[in-house]
Amino acid sequence: MTLSLELPVIETKQETPDVKSIKLSFNNQRLDYKPGQYMMIEFDVIDEENGSTRPLSIASSPTEDFLLFSTKISQSLFKQRFNSLKAGDKVKLKGPMGIFTLKEDAKEAVLLGGGIGITPFRDMVKYCCDKKLKIKLTLLYSNRTPADIVYKDEWAVFEEENPNLKVVHTITESTAGWLGRTGRVNEAMIKEFCSDLDNSLFYICGPPGMVEGLSNLLKTMNVPQSNVKIEKFAGY
Ligand SMILES: Cc1cc2nc3c(=O)[nH]c(=O)nc-3n(C[C@H](O)[C@H](O)[C@H](O)COP(=O)(O)OP(=O)(O)OC[C@H]3O[C@@H](n4cnc5c(N)ncnc54)[C@H](O)[C@@H]3O)c2cc1C
Repeated sequence: MTLSLELPVIETKQETPDVKSIKLSFNNQRLDYKPGQYMMIEFDVIDEENGSTRPLSIASSPTEDFLLFSTKISQSLFKQRFNSLKAGDKVKLKGPMGIFTLKEDAKEAVLLGGGIGITPFRDMVKYCCDKKLKIKLTLLYSNRTPADIVYKDEWAVFEEENPNLKVVHTITESTAGWLGRTGRVNEAMIKEFCSDLDNSLFYICGPPGMVEGLSNLLKTMNVPQSNVKIEKFAGY
């Protein structure tokens, strides 16, 4: 059911040099949503071209007692307002919406995220940890530099909690001191971590160009299209 809510900010956090998060309190209200869904957020700004609302994926799991949203700060009036929020401010939001949702009885799922396209995956991963779901879950998370990794400290904690979870970071810009994987997510990387291409579910989220590129790659790898779910963060 779609609800209109007005919830207070309880915390803000600078996640990376250009990504900011806000945590909202439920204020004793209930919101039923599925991991992967998004909300429409509205601010009192007048942006004649792009309006005063933006869809933002819910980054917190339904098992958590707050709502988390993260966004890349741009010059738009919406983002500038987001960036200026402080504890106690009220935020108007409508939802939940979307069909980019976790299939809880999947055997194996591969999450392909780029940059800020990680938000619905934090929700899904945390949900699998808290619910102790048996899904074999692999997150291949691509960023330009290590400094761009969002929720940086949480990934190792989630892996400790969930023996079925593997988080793989890859960095696309050469960075001194980075000892992990480099380069874009490619066929070899997907095959290395996915044991059953025919029966795994694939979720892709990020800027439209990245989503289209990876979606085409899976097509050339003969992954059944019915097993591929995408969420394009239009506007990037
Ligand atoms: C389902 C969904 C979930 C999302 N979740 C997140 C999230 O969790 N975090 C996050 O940071 N972003 C998310 N986004 C993207 C977000 O809604 C904004 O579009 C994006 O952050 C850019 O907003 P902006 O205010 O910076 O730029 P804008 O002022 O919106 O403009 C950026 C440019 O993109 C163009 N543009 C805007 N919208 C569209 C569109 N729909 N199609 C084509 N061009 C467009 C504008 O005309 C402009 O040139 C999500 C998008 C969708 C669809």
